[in-house]
Amino acid sequence: MSTQKSDTSGNDLMSKIVSLCKRRGFVFQSSEIYGGLKSCYDYGPLGAELKRNIAAEWWRSMVYERDNIVGLDASIMMHPQVWQTSGHLSGFSDPLVDCLNCKERFRADKAPRAEPGSSVNYVAGGKSGGAKLSAPVTDKGYVCPQCGAPTLSDERQFNLMFRTSLGPVDPLTEVARELDGKALPAAKIREMLEDAARKSVTYLRPETAQSMFVQFLNVQQSMSMKVPFGIAQVGKSFRNEIVTEHFIFRSCEFEQMEMEFFCEPGTQKEWMTYWRDERMAWYHRYANDKNAFRLRAHENDELAHYSDECYDVEYMYPWGWGELEGIASRTDYDLSRHAAESGVKLSYFDQQKTDPATGKPGWRYVPYVIEPAAGLTRSVLCFLIDAYAEETGVDAEGEGKTRVLLKLHPRLAPYKAAILPLVKKDGQPEMAMELVKEFRRLGINVSYDDKQSIGKRYSRHDEIGTPYCLTIDNDSVKDGTLTLRDRDTAKQVRLPVAEAVAAVKARLDAGM
Ligand code: ATP
Repeated sequence: MSTQKSDTSGNDLMSKIVSLCKRRGFVFQSSEIYGGLKSCYDYGPLGAELKRNIAAEWWRSMVYERDNIVGLDASIMMHPQVWQTSGHLSGFSDPLVDCLNCKERFRADKAPRAEPGSSVNYVAGGKSGGAKLSAPVTDKGYVCPQCGAPTLSDERQFNLMFRTSLGPVDPLTEVARELDGKALPAAKIREMLEDAARKSVTYLRPETAQSMFVQFLNVQQSMSMKVPFGIAQVGKSFRNEIVTEHFIFRSCEFEQMEMEFFCEPGTQKEWMTYWRDERMAWYHRYANDKNAFRLRAHENDELAHYSDECYDVEYMYPWGWGELEGIASRTDYDLSRHAAESGVKLSYFDQQKTDPATGKPGWRYVPYVIEPAAGLTRSVLCFLIDAYAEETGVDAEGEGKTRVLLKLHPRLAPYKAAILPLVKKDGQPEMAMELVKEFRRLGINVSYDDKQSIGKRYSRHDEIGTPYCLTIDNDSVKDGTLTLRDRDTAKQVRLPVAEAVAAVKARLDAGM
């Protein structure tokens, strides 16, 4: 048998992964029975496990394995002033453009580039059979990603935050009452609506980071943290994306794994190098194809005004390189801004240091921040793509067959092992169940599976990424041994049942 990523195009690989996700219970379309809700997804039984496992590995490497990083689980809704201060209310927007030809709405910064003045061909209305037209590319230097037309509206900034109201007030009722019987211009009505909404307005967070800045003092003081230290968080974020794309790659509701690392001013460069390398090493630890991950330094014109260095961890998705994680050196911008607006000193006093400004012992400063910000749901997609493989070969009858397998790292796999009684009699199910209980006592998630033939069960577990199958057969009952089958090599070894748990555990811990 030969193993390959897929002998087909990137699109085909994505459609195979999307189909496997649905068929095997990883990811479903949200509200599917009602036709689905665009770009919203539900993680099924195995997807929920995979996502939890990725988050747990991140948490282990960020929090449990370090003395100087602690966790936080903050609320999704925060005081609206947070978003005013952070700049999200005024600046967290993407340039939105309408295509005047096919009515597509898209992001100007992601649109296909074209030489201003050059002539491009497109079809009227973007419909097949429409009249063939051509027009010059405007100074914008891009065309519609859907139909290729250069006839576009002006760009306008579209804020990505979801706005909602908190408390038992309905701003619309209030405005409706005021408007009753009045004929007012649209601009005035808009102003009244904005005023009414403002009283109870709140936002769904577009990133988890801000809560770690505004809780800086509480965390530092309650845990007696000494700089350098970090606050880590895994949680949901929401962005009303203009274009959602590539399955769970870009959705409006998603999860992030972010860490704010507070360090002494002047040390940010060395910490940036440290975290950049740590994060790449983390991905490499779980990946099959290490070459599909790369670091890309941001050009100066890409950097946010407060940032002095930034890297993206990029992954080679089936459609090309794209972001997986951003690692930003954010200077003291966030803490300083929140301190100025709230009036609370978000600073740190180091008794051991000399104040560089006065030369006196003791230094109070606002820490600088390095922020590795990873996408959890995007990592689910990345690890699924990395793991997907097909093996082609021939079966015993000489028929061509394809073995589909998810070569997930054992620590990420939903089940760590499948316990399979060969037949449902002769004491085999009882013996298998005893083994299942032993795994469960140790908190290791395994699957007891006695449905269909053993070959079908192996295939099913290959396809959902179960790294080991432990088969209890007639000999097991007689001599207390079982067969351990390795997912990736399909090789089988015989070992005592009493050693099975330790064998699987040793494989899980290898390289950790
Ligand atoms: P992009 O350039 O892809 O829009 P970004 O630079 O806006 O991403 P950040 O604000 O740096 O993203 O967020 C950190 C991480 O959160 C990203 O690297 C990505 O993995 C994840 N992420 C951001 N937006 C989304 C989204 N809409 N859906 C899924 N994951 C997302």
